[in-house]
Amino acid sequence: MPLRDVAGHRHLRELLARAVERESLPPSVIFTGPEGVGKRLTAMALAQLLNCPTPVVVEGFGRDACGVCASCRRIARGVHSDVILIEPGETGAIKVDRIRDAVDKAAYRPFEGRRRVVIIDDADAVLVEAQNALLKTLEEPPSASSFVLVTSTPDLLLPTVRSRCQHIRFVRLDAADIAAVLVNAHDYDETSAHAAASAADGSIGAALAGDSEDVAAARDAAASLLQGVASSTDPRRRLESAKLLVGASDRHELARRLRALASLLRDCGVLLSGADERCLANADLKPLLGGLVRAFDGDRTVRAFSVVDQALEALERNGSPKIVADWVAFQI
Ligand SMILES: [Zn+2]
Repeated sequence: MPLRDVAGHRHLRELLARAVERESLPPSVIFTGPEGVGKRLTAMALAQLLNCPTPVVVEGFGRDACGVCASCRRIARGVHSDVILIEPGETGAIKVDRIRDAVDKAAYRPFEGRRRVVIIDDADAVLVEAQNALLKTLEEPPSASSFVLVTSTPDLLLPTVRSRCQHIRFVRLDAADIAAVLVNAHDYDETSAHAAASAADGSIGAALAGDSEDVAAARDAAASLLQGVASSTDPRRRLESAKLLVGASDRHELARRLRALASLLRDCGVLLSGADERCLANADLKPLLGGLVRAFDGDRTVRAFSVVDQALEALERNGSPKIVADWVAFQI
């Protein structure tokens, strides 16, 4: 997938494309940022651009790999002789022989492309001895080689490795970007895509890992709870709503529903603040949210959000799901 098609991170992708065009891309870079937001995909797209023999100029984006030539396709499939992808083996670690092998190969001219690109995914899994083997090459990479280290925990790398690389920071994705990827690339329908995206905390990886049906059900339960408590101060009605929350009285299920609740409350805050509606995580539920904000003014929304936050914390500390759910229903 070429750079222009990667979801989110537009500014960063344009920056990389411009740096390649001006031949100013630093030879050793670290892609950091949350799990599952497209760091590795961007590294592969960068390798395509660095090697594509027939780049294209895309209006509104700039120069990019064509994405369809033999070189681009081989890189996408992981079989290009000049693009070396290293990732943790079965032991969960990247051992020194893999790194030495890549360092040796990087010393030679590219075989079929313009640049050798070594991508180390989960670079924090590189054992210390192997990190030391990388140091010299990161500092003075061979002229036709680039190194891209990908990690969500750069602090686990040796400071000497970190300081030899330019850091490129990825951020969480918008729910709208995630939903679009789920629909276009993973065959989700609109409703489950929005439900999964809203609970994914900015990560496509997390959206795909969560069962979309469970997530959609959790969001329905959270929405019903909010509707139930929005207009009623009757304690019995509130207890009924608590039952909706606790559902199977399963800890994980309750946590999922609480996260859905937090996401809906965050959206109420977006509507109340008059911010751009594209910021809504649950854009497909806009009519429902519009009804909720009539009962949830700014103060109540902030208070409810903090209640949900405390409830999630209590669950993590092993609080009883039933007590936590009852407490939430009475507090918000
Ligand atoms: Zn190409």
